[in-house]
Amino acid sequence: MGTSKGRGPTIAKDVNRQIIYRQMKHNRETTRVDLARTLNLHKNTVNAIIGEFMETGFVEELGQQAQSGAGRKATVIQFQARNKWAIGVQITSDVIHWAVTDLYAQPIASYSVPLRDAAPDNVVQSLLSEADKLLVTYGAEACVGMCIGIPGLMEEHRSSIIHSSHLSWQHVPLLALLKDRLSIPLKLDNSVKLASLGEQWHGSGSGSNDFAYCYFGNGVGCSLVASGSVVRGSVGAAGELGHFVLEPDGPLCGCGNRGCLEALVSLPALLRQISEADGAGSSEPLSWETVLDRLHHKDPVVLEVLRGAGRTIGQALSYVVNLLNPKLVVCDGPLMQASSILFPHIESELQRRCLSAVIPVRVARSELYPYASCIGAAADAIQTWEAATYPL
Ligand SMILES: [Zn+2]
Repeated sequence: MGTSKGRGPTIAKDVNRQIIYRQMKHNRETTRVDLARTLNLHKNTVNAIIGEFMETGFVEELGQQAQSGAGRKATVIQFQARNKWAIGVQITSDVIHWAVTDLYAQPIASYSVPLRDAAPDNVVQSLLSEADKLLVTYGAEACVGMCIGIPGLMEEHRSSIIHSSHLSWQHVPLLALLKDRLSIPLKLDNSVKLASLGEQWHGSGSGSNDFAYCYFGNGVGCSLVASGSVVRGSVGAAGELGHFVLEPDGPLCGCGNRGCLEALVSLPALLRQISEADGAGSSEPLSWETVLDRLHHKDPVVLEVLRGAGRTIGQALSYVVNLLNPKLVVCDGPLMQASSILFPHIESELQRRCLSAVIPVRVARSELYPYASCIGAAADAIQTWEAATYPL
């Protein structure tokens, strides 16, 4: 919002416009009279700004207020969250997840596009062609922006990726590769950090200011939310739960250490442990779907390996809980499709290993799987647009 000498009344109106936008969004439905009373503004000011919002489509009149009483009935006005829309994207090594959301980051559509090859050129092509389709379908002029989640480390300004072991990327200037071809605002962030934002807006973490979000899949990731904000650390690498060393003589991890949590409970690690326990009789490569099917039939090998995984995860989480004292730990990712067997062991390890001062801590499965990261990405794009358009 620009400021200059002599713009006093304009600045006052800008501020009032911002306050009314945020209050309208918060209330969803209200009346001009209630807005004036709540915000302590003159009714003419509210009327003028609501008139502008009606012209630009942010507000619609619903009709007369039902309640009876003295004086004239007021007209109910409603915030139009679909007047603008956002795109949230999560890139993984074999699929790109997409969410199109309204201004509350509520999905209007969510879907996943398989990725044959995670090479940067191929990913850029896939992003461009899918984004073009969405901009035609939902209208480019109403799009507030697109944010992309990546499993990796970004440089300071989060416009390019320094390193992503899961995508096998080194120094990929992703936003620069997209910027010339897409005319909407673009952002980039770590997909696990975005997922914790998604949980905060709409998932198990909603209403929680202190929680840990943990992802268990081909890798293990964690995002810590403290006092309502994501903890980033000095170079943005906070939350490397996957590389807590739990067995110093354990299996080799991709990071070069031995016995990291990721080397013990990632999907590839668990498939390997189950195959080894199956013995020589099994020659078929094992899939996670097969393991879930065997779990459903109470296969003793699968039960034993997953019980051990639950205890190991509980041990790792006890360090997080003792350190951060979260109210909640949200567990997400494909491994949590086996939460019925994992959770009792995670919870009993937490009980056993955590200081009584940090208990109780609730462990919950993500309700947004597999779109937590996309929803968080869309929320990030909305926050960025609102901060620029209606700053407070
Ligand atoms: Zn490691």
